[in-house]
Amino acid sequence: MTERARHIASTLLTLLWVGVCAPGAASDTLRAESTHFVITHESEASPGYVALVTRGLETAYEAFVTQAGFATFPARVDVRILPGEMDGMGAEYLDEDEDGQLLPVIEIASRQAMLAAAESMWLAVSLDDALLSTTAHEFFHVVQDYASLHGHGDIEEVAFVEPHATAVQEIVAPRADDYLDAAVDFLAAPDAMPFLDRGYDAGLFWVYVLDRYGLDAVRRVMTESAVADGARAIDRAFAPFGLTFLDVWAKFAAAWASGRLPDPAALAETSRAWRAQNGGPGFVTPPPCAVARWDGQAVKIERTTEDERAEPLRVETPYGIDAVAIRVHASDALRITVRAASGVGLRVAWVGRRGERLDLLGIGPLEITVSQPNRYDEVRVVLTRGETPSGRYTLELSPAS
Ligand SMILES: [Zn+2]
Repeated sequence: MTERARHIASTLLTLLWVGVCAPGAASDTLRAESTHFVITHESEASPGYVALVTRGLETAYEAFVTQAGFATFPARVDVRILPGEMDGMGAEYLDEDEDGQLLPVIEIASRQAMLAAAESMWLAVSLDDALLSTTAHEFFHVVQDYASLHGHGDIEEVAFVEPHATAVQEIVAPRADDYLDAAVDFLAAPDAMPFLDRGYDAGLFWVYVLDRYGLDAVRRVMTESAVADGARAIDRAFAPFGLTFLDVWAKFAAAWASGRLPDPAALAETSRAWRAQNGGPGFVTPPPCAVARWDGQAVKIERTTEDERAEPLRVETPYGIDAVAIRVHASDALRITVRAASGVGLRVAWVGRRGERLDLLGIGPLEITVSQPNRYDEVRVVLTRGETPSGRYTLELSPAS
Protein backbone atom coordinates (compact mmCIF):
# COMPACT_ATOMS: atom_id res chain seq x y z
CA MET A 1 0.00 0.00 0.00
CA THR A 2 2.84 2.35 0.63
CA GLU A 3 5.43 3.81 -1.63
CA ARG A 4 8.05 4.85 0.88
CA ALA A 5 10.96 5.82 -1.31
CA ARG A 6 9.97 9.33 -2.26
CA HIS A 7 11.49 12.32 -0.54
CA ILE A 8 10.38 15.20 -2.70
CA ALA A 9 10.64 18.72 -1.37
CA SER A 10 7.11 19.64 -2.31
CA THR A 11 5.47 21.07 0.80
CA LEU A 12 6.16 24.65 -0.17
CA LEU A 13 5.15 23.89 -3.72
CA THR A 14 1.78 22.60 -2.53
CA LEU A 15 1.03 25.80 -0.63
CA LEU A 16 1.80 27.89 -3.74
CA TRP A 17 -0.30 25.58 -5.84
CA VAL A 18 -3.30 26.23 -3.56
CA GLY A 19 -2.64 29.96 -3.94
CA VAL A 20 -2.62 30.07 -7.72
CA CYS A 21 -5.88 28.22 -8.30
CA ALA A 22 -8.38 30.61 -9.80
CA PRO A 23 -11.83 30.65 -8.16
CA GLY A 24 -14.35 28.83 -10.32
CA ALA A 25 -11.69 26.88 -12.26
CA ALA A 26 -12.65 23.33 -13.25
CA SER A 27 -10.39 21.72 -10.65
CA ASP A 28 -9.39 23.74 -7.59
CA THR A 29 -7.22 22.44 -4.79
CA LEU A 30 -9.14 22.80 -1.55
CA ARG A 31 -7.97 22.53 1.99
CA ALA A 32 -9.70 21.14 5.08
CA GLU A 33 -8.32 21.11 8.60
CA SER A 34 -9.04 18.86 11.53
CA THR A 35 -7.39 18.80 14.95
CA HIS A 36 -4.32 16.84 13.84
CA PHE A 37 -4.41 16.87 10.02
CA VAL A 38 -4.46 19.28 7.07
CA ILE A 39 -6.19 17.66 4.11
CA THR A 40 -5.79 18.98 0.57
CA HIS A 41 -7.95 17.65 -2.24
CA GLU A 42 -9.32 18.51 -5.64
CA SER A 43 -12.75 20.06 -5.82
CA GLU A 44 -14.06 16.84 -7.41
CA ALA A 45 -13.65 15.01 -4.09
CA SER A 46 -17.08 15.02 -2.46
CA PRO A 47 -17.40 16.66 0.99
CA GLY A 48 -18.70 13.32 2.26
CA TYR A 49 -15.54 11.53 1.13
CA VAL A 50 -13.28 14.20 2.64
CA ALA A 51 -15.23 13.87 5.90
CA LEU A 52 -14.73 10.07 5.88
CA VAL A 53 -10.99 10.47 5.30
CA THR A 54 -10.79 13.00 8.13
CA ARG A 55 -12.79 10.77 10.47
CA GLY A 56 -10.50 7.83 9.68
CA LEU A 57 -7.36 9.85 10.38
CA GLU A 58 -8.64 11.29 13.66
CA THR A 59 -9.87 7.82 14.75
CA ALA A 60 -6.38 6.46 14.10
CA TYR A 61 -4.80 9.37 16.02
CA GLU A 62 -7.16 8.70 18.94
CA ALA A 63 -6.35 4.96 18.96
CA PHE A 64 -2.58 5.15 18.57
CA VAL A 65 -1.59 8.47 20.19
CA THR A 66 -4.33 9.40 22.69
CA GLN A 67 -5.22 5.88 23.84
CA ALA A 68 -2.07 3.82 23.28
CA GLY A 69 0.48 6.60 23.92
CA PHE A 70 2.58 6.33 20.74
CA ALA A 71 4.49 9.54 20.06
CA THR A 72 4.13 11.47 16.79
CA PHE A 73 5.14 14.73 15.07
CA PRO A 74 3.72 17.72 16.96
CA ALA A 75 2.58 19.58 13.82
CA ARG A 76 -0.59 18.74 11.88
CA VAL A 77 0.11 16.04 9.29
CA ASP A 78 -0.10 16.96 5.60
CA VAL A 79 -2.66 14.67 3.90
CA ARG A 80 -3.39 14.66 0.14
CA ILE A 81 -6.37 13.00 -1.44
CA LEU A 82 -5.07 12.17 -4.91
CA PRO A 83 -7.40 12.51 -7.87
CA GLY A 84 -7.94 9.68 -10.36
CA GLU A 85 -6.06 6.40 -10.29
CA MET A 86 -3.24 5.57 -7.91
CA ASP A 87 -1.24 2.45 -7.26
CA GLY A 88 -2.71 1.19 -4.00
CA MET A 89 -5.07 2.78 -1.50
CA GLY A 90 -2.66 5.07 0.29
CA ALA A 91 0.97 5.99 0.84
CA GLU A 92 3.15 7.71 3.40
CA TYR A 93 6.60 9.24 3.15
CA LEU A 94 8.84 11.86 4.73
CA ASP A 95 9.26 15.17 3.01
CA GLU A 96 11.77 17.92 3.75
CA ASP A 97 10.48 21.43 4.44
CA GLU A 98 12.43 24.58 3.55
CA ASP A 99 14.40 24.38 6.83
CA GLY A 100 15.47 20.80 6.11
CA GLN A 101 13.06 19.36 8.69
CA LEU A 102 11.58 15.96 7.87
CA LEU A 103 7.79 15.97 7.95
CA PRO A 104 5.35 13.19 7.10
CA VAL A 105 3.00 13.24 4.12
CA ILE A 106 0.03 10.90 3.76
CA GLU A 107 -1.58 10.23 0.39
CA ILE A 108 -5.06 8.72 0.16
CA ALA A 109 -6.65 7.34 -3.02
CA SER A 110 -9.73 8.97 -4.58
CA ARG A 111 -13.15 7.57 -3.70
CA GLN A 112 -13.33 5.77 -7.02
CA ALA A 113 -9.89 4.14 -6.64
CA MET A 114 -10.56 3.25 -2.97
CA LEU A 115 -13.88 1.63 -3.85
CA ALA A 116 -12.34 -0.34 -6.71
CA ALA A 117 -9.58 -1.66 -4.41
CA ALA A 118 -12.02 -2.50 -1.61
CA GLU A 119 -14.32 -4.43 -3.94
CA SER A 120 -11.49 -6.39 -5.55
CA MET A 121 -10.42 -8.09 -2.30
CA TRP A 122 -11.02 -11.81 -1.69
CA LEU A 123 -13.41 -10.73 1.05
CA ALA A 124 -15.05 -7.51 -0.16
CA VAL A 125 -14.74 -4.56 2.24
CA SER A 126 -17.11 -1.57 2.48
CA LEU A 127 -15.82 1.88 1.52
CA ASP A 128 -16.13 3.02 5.16
CA ASP A 129 -14.06 0.12 6.46
CA ALA A 130 -11.51 0.41 3.65
CA LEU A 131 -10.98 4.08 4.54
CA LEU A 132 -10.76 3.45 8.29
CA SER A 133 -8.28 0.69 7.61
CA THR A 134 -6.19 2.66 5.09
CA THR A 135 -5.97 5.81 7.18
CA ALA A 136 -4.96 3.72 10.23
CA HIS A 137 -2.28 1.98 8.15
CA GLU A 138 -0.81 5.19 6.76
CA PHE A 139 -0.98 7.08 10.06
CA PHE A 140 0.83 4.18 11.77
CA HIS A 141 3.66 4.72 9.26
CA VAL A 142 3.81 8.31 10.55
CA VAL A 143 4.19 6.92 14.09
CA GLN A 144 6.89 4.51 12.85
CA ASP A 145 8.78 7.32 11.11
CA TYR A 146 8.66 9.48 14.24
CA ALA A 147 9.90 6.60 16.41
CA SER A 148 12.73 5.87 13.99
CA LEU A 149 13.85 9.52 13.86
CA HIS A 150 13.89 9.64 17.68
CA GLY A 151 15.74 6.38 18.35
CA HIS A 152 12.86 4.21 19.55
CA GLY A 153 12.19 2.40 16.29
CA ASP A 154 13.93 1.49 13.05
CA ILE A 155 12.19 2.17 9.77
CA GLU A 156 14.95 0.22 7.95
CA GLU A 157 13.81 -2.97 9.70
CA VAL A 158 11.36 -4.02 6.99
CA ALA A 159 10.10 -7.02 8.99
CA PHE A 160 8.33 -4.58 11.30
CA VAL A 161 7.17 -1.84 8.91
CA GLU A 162 4.42 -3.10 6.57
CA PRO A 163 3.60 -6.16 8.73
CA HIS A 164 2.89 -3.95 11.78
CA ALA A 165 1.02 -1.26 9.81
CA THR A 166 -1.13 -3.97 8.21
CA ALA A 167 -1.94 -5.58 11.56
CA VAL A 168 -2.88 -2.40 13.42
CA GLN A 169 -5.52 -1.64 10.77
CA GLU A 170 -7.55 -4.17 12.76
CA ILE A 171 -7.55 -1.95 15.87
CA VAL A 172 -9.27 0.91 14.08
CA ALA A 173 -11.27 -1.13 11.52
CA PRO A 174 -12.03 -4.44 13.26
CA ARG A 175 -14.79 -5.34 10.79
CA ALA A 176 -12.58 -4.92 7.73
CA ASP A 177 -10.39 -8.01 8.30
CA ASP A 178 -8.49 -6.85 5.22
CA TYR A 179 -5.16 -8.00 6.70
CA LEU A 180 -6.41 -11.44 5.60
CA ASP A 181 -6.57 -10.31 1.97
CA ALA A 182 -2.96 -9.21 2.31
CA ALA A 183 -2.05 -12.50 4.06
CA VAL A 184 -3.07 -14.86 1.25
CA ASP A 185 0.50 -15.38 -0.07
CA PHE A 186 1.61 -16.48 3.38
CA LEU A 187 -1.51 -18.54 4.15
CA ALA A 188 -1.33 -20.51 0.89
CA ALA A 189 2.42 -21.18 1.11
CA PRO A 190 3.67 -20.67 4.68
CA ASP A 191 7.09 -22.22 3.96
CA ALA A 192 7.78 -20.39 0.69
CA MET A 193 10.05 -17.68 2.17
CA PRO A 194 11.54 -16.73 5.55
CA PHE A 195 8.82 -15.14 7.64
CA LEU A 196 10.90 -12.08 8.52
CA ASP A 197 11.42 -11.31 4.80
CA ARG A 198 7.67 -11.03 4.19
CA GLY A 199 5.75 -7.77 3.86
CA TYR A 200 2.02 -7.09 4.11
CA ASP A 201 1.26 -10.82 4.25
CA ALA A 202 3.06 -11.07 7.60
CA GLY A 203 0.40 -8.86 9.21
CA LEU A 204 -1.52 -12.05 10.04
CA PHE A 205 1.03 -13.06 12.72
CA TRP A 206 0.96 -9.60 14.27
CA VAL A 207 -2.85 -9.62 14.42
CA TYR A 208 -2.46 -12.82 16.47
CA VAL A 209 0.06 -10.98 18.69
CA LEU A 210 -2.35 -8.04 19.10
CA ASP A 211 -5.14 -10.45 20.01
CA ARG A 212 -3.12 -12.40 22.60
CA TYR A 213 -0.61 -9.85 23.93
CA GLY A 214 -2.01 -6.42 23.01
CA LEU A 215 -0.71 -3.38 21.15
CA ASP A 216 1.97 -2.87 23.78
CA ALA A 217 3.75 -6.01 22.52
CA VAL A 218 3.97 -4.44 19.05
CA ARG A 219 5.24 -1.22 20.60
CA ARG A 220 7.96 -3.15 22.49
CA VAL A 221 9.06 -4.82 19.24
CA MET A 222 9.23 -1.40 17.58
CA THR A 223 11.32 -0.03 20.47
CA GLU A 224 13.65 -3.04 20.59
CA SER A 225 14.19 -2.86 16.81
CA ALA A 226 16.24 0.31 17.49
CA VAL A 227 18.84 -1.79 19.35
CA ALA A 228 18.45 -5.34 17.96
CA ASP A 229 17.62 -6.93 14.61
CA GLY A 230 14.92 -9.32 13.44
CA ALA A 231 14.19 -12.25 15.73
CA ARG A 232 16.46 -10.79 18.45
CA ALA A 233 14.24 -7.69 18.67
CA ILE A 234 11.17 -9.91 19.13
CA ASP A 235 13.02 -12.06 21.70
CA ARG A 236 13.78 -8.94 23.71
CA ALA A 237 10.21 -7.66 23.41
CA PHE A 238 8.75 -10.92 24.73
CA ALA A 239 11.32 -11.45 27.49
CA PRO A 240 8.89 -9.97 30.09
CA PHE A 241 6.52 -12.85 29.24
CA GLY A 242 9.35 -15.39 29.54
CA LEU A 243 8.98 -16.18 25.83
CA THR A 244 11.28 -16.14 22.80
CA PHE A 245 10.11 -15.29 19.29
CA LEU A 246 10.20 -19.01 18.44
CA ASP A 247 7.97 -19.74 21.46
CA VAL A 248 5.39 -17.18 20.30
CA TRP A 249 5.76 -18.34 16.70
CA ALA A 250 5.13 -21.99 17.64
CA LYS A 251 2.01 -20.92 19.58
CA PHE A 252 0.85 -19.02 16.49
CA ALA A 253 1.43 -22.07 14.25
CA ALA A 254 -0.49 -24.24 16.73
CA ALA A 255 -3.33 -21.70 16.90
CA TRP A 256 -3.61 -21.69 13.10
CA ALA A 257 -3.52 -25.50 12.93
CA SER A 258 -6.22 -25.84 15.57
CA GLY A 259 -8.62 -23.16 14.29
CA ARG A 260 -7.81 -20.64 17.02
CA LEU A 261 -6.63 -17.61 15.04
CA PRO A 262 -8.65 -14.36 15.34
CA ASP A 263 -11.52 -13.84 12.85
CA PRO A 264 -12.14 -17.53 12.01
CA ALA A 265 -15.26 -16.78 9.91
CA ALA A 266 -13.43 -14.24 7.74
CA LEU A 267 -10.47 -16.62 7.40
CA ALA A 268 -12.81 -19.42 6.26
CA GLU A 269 -14.53 -17.10 3.79
CA THR A 270 -11.22 -15.86 2.36
CA SER A 271 -10.02 -19.46 2.03
CA ARG A 272 -13.25 -20.48 0.28
CA ALA A 273 -13.00 -17.63 -2.23
CA TRP A 274 -9.34 -18.38 -2.91
CA ARG A 275 -9.97 -22.15 -3.26
CA ALA A 276 -12.78 -21.55 -5.76
CA GLN A 277 -10.18 -19.98 -8.04
CA ASN A 278 -7.05 -21.97 -7.19
CA GLY A 279 -8.30 -25.36 -5.94
CA GLY A 280 -6.41 -27.40 -3.35
CA PRO A 281 -7.12 -27.61 0.35
CA GLY A 282 -7.36 -23.86 1.05
CA PHE A 283 -5.75 -22.46 4.20
CA VAL A 284 -8.17 -22.46 7.13
CA THR A 285 -5.39 -24.60 8.62
CA PRO A 286 -1.82 -24.85 7.20
CA PRO A 287 -2.07 -26.68 3.83
CA PRO A 288 -0.42 -30.13 4.06
CA CYS A 289 2.77 -30.83 2.10
CA ALA A 290 2.34 -34.57 2.63
CA VAL A 291 -0.66 -36.84 3.22
CA ALA A 292 -0.26 -40.41 4.51
CA ARG A 293 -2.51 -43.23 5.79
CA TRP A 294 -2.55 -45.04 9.11
CA ASP A 295 -3.58 -48.65 8.40
CA GLY A 296 -2.15 -50.08 11.61
CA GLN A 297 1.21 -50.91 9.93
CA ALA A 298 4.53 -49.20 10.56
CA VAL A 299 5.28 -46.63 7.87
CA LYS A 300 7.89 -43.96 7.22
CA ILE A 301 6.96 -40.62 5.69
CA GLU A 302 9.98 -39.11 3.98
CA ARG A 303 8.78 -37.09 0.99
CA THR A 304 6.17 -34.52 0.04
CA THR A 305 3.09 -35.90 -1.68
CA GLU A 306 1.09 -32.72 -2.40
CA ASP A 307 3.36 -31.36 -5.12
CA GLU A 308 4.82 -33.12 -8.13
CA ARG A 309 8.39 -32.88 -6.91
CA ALA A 310 8.11 -35.47 -4.09
CA GLU A 311 10.98 -33.83 -2.26
CA PRO A 312 12.49 -34.89 1.05
CA LEU A 313 10.50 -33.39 3.93
CA ARG A 314 12.05 -30.17 5.11
CA VAL A 315 10.92 -26.98 6.81
CA GLU A 316 12.64 -24.99 4.12
CA THR A 317 12.77 -21.48 5.58
CA PRO A 318 13.27 -19.91 9.02
CA TYR A 319 9.83 -19.67 10.67
CA GLY A 320 8.29 -21.58 7.76
CA ILE A 321 5.43 -23.95 8.57
CA ASP A 322 4.92 -27.50 7.26
CA ALA A 323 1.88 -29.67 7.87
CA VAL A 324 1.62 -33.43 7.37
CA ALA A 325 -1.84 -35.03 7.44
CA ILE A 326 -2.28 -38.65 8.53
CA ARG A 327 -5.64 -40.09 7.50
CA VAL A 328 -6.81 -42.64 10.04
CA HIS A 329 -8.04 -46.01 8.71
CA ALA A 330 -7.31 -48.23 11.73
CA SER A 331 -8.27 -48.26 15.40
CA ASP A 332 -4.85 -49.49 16.62
CA ALA A 333 -3.07 -47.08 18.95
CA LEU A 334 -0.75 -44.91 16.87
CA ARG A 335 2.67 -43.61 17.79
CA ILE A 336 4.03 -40.78 15.62
CA THR A 337 7.68 -39.87 15.92
CA VAL A 338 9.41 -36.92 14.30
CA ARG A 339 13.03 -37.71 13.42
CA ALA A 340 15.44 -34.87 12.78
CA ALA A 341 19.21 -34.54 13.01
CA SER A 342 20.35 -33.05 16.29
CA GLY A 343 20.44 -29.27 16.17
CA VAL A 344 17.57 -28.97 13.70
CA GLY A 345 15.44 -27.47 16.46
CA LEU A 346 11.96 -28.28 15.18
CA ARG A 347 8.84 -27.21 17.06
CA VAL A 348 5.85 -29.49 16.60
CA ALA A 349 2.12 -29.05 17.22
CA TRP A 350 -0.23 -32.07 17.13
CA VAL A 351 -3.85 -31.66 16.08
CA GLY A 352 -6.72 -34.16 15.74
CA ARG A 353 -9.47 -33.35 13.22
CA ARG A 354 -12.92 -34.88 13.17
CA GLY A 355 -15.14 -33.21 10.59
CA GLU A 356 -14.82 -29.49 11.26
CA ARG A 357 -13.69 -29.99 14.85
CA LEU A 358 -10.01 -29.47 15.63
CA ASP A 359 -8.40 -30.59 18.91
CA LEU A 360 -4.94 -29.35 19.86
CA LEU A 361 -3.31 -32.52 21.25
CA GLY A 362 -0.05 -30.88 22.28
CA ILE A 363 2.83 -28.57 21.39
CA GLY A 364 6.49 -29.40 21.79
CA PRO A 365 7.41 -33.09 22.09
CA LEU A 366 8.74 -34.86 19.00
CA GLU A 367 6.62 -37.95 19.68
CA ILE A 368 2.98 -38.53 20.48
CA THR A 369 0.83 -41.61 21.14
CA VAL A 370 -2.79 -41.39 20.05
CA SER A 371 -4.50 -44.24 21.89
CA GLN A 372 -7.77 -44.17 19.93
CA PRO A 373 -6.77 -42.63 16.61
CA ASN A 374 -10.12 -43.45 14.98
CA ARG A 375 -11.72 -40.79 17.17
CA TYR A 376 -10.26 -38.58 14.44
CA ASP A 377 -10.53 -38.52 10.66
CA GLU A 378 -7.01 -37.19 10.55
CA VAL A 379 -4.07 -36.44 12.81
CA ARG A 380 -2.04 -33.44 11.70
CA VAL A 381 1.57 -32.82 12.50
CA VAL A 382 2.52 -29.14 12.18
CA LEU A 383 6.22 -28.33 12.17
CA THR A 384 8.19 -25.12 12.31
CA ARG A 385 11.69 -24.01 13.21
CA GLY A 386 13.80 -20.96 13.99
CA GLU A 387 17.02 -19.97 12.25
CA THR A 388 18.72 -23.36 12.51
CA PRO A 389 20.61 -24.28 9.33
CA SER A 390 18.45 -27.23 8.24
CA GLY A 391 14.83 -28.18 8.63
CA ARG A 392 15.08 -31.80 7.38
CA TYR A 393 12.83 -34.33 9.13
CA THR A 394 11.02 -37.62 8.62
CA LEU A 395 7.98 -39.09 10.36
CA GLU A 396 7.51 -42.64 11.59
CA LEU A 397 4.11 -44.15 12.28
CA SER A 398 4.09 -47.31 14.38
CA PRO A 399 1.67 -49.39 16.45
CA ALA A 400 1.92 -48.20 20.06
CA SER A 401 0.83 -51.42 21.79
ZN1 LIG B 1 2.21 0.59 4.22
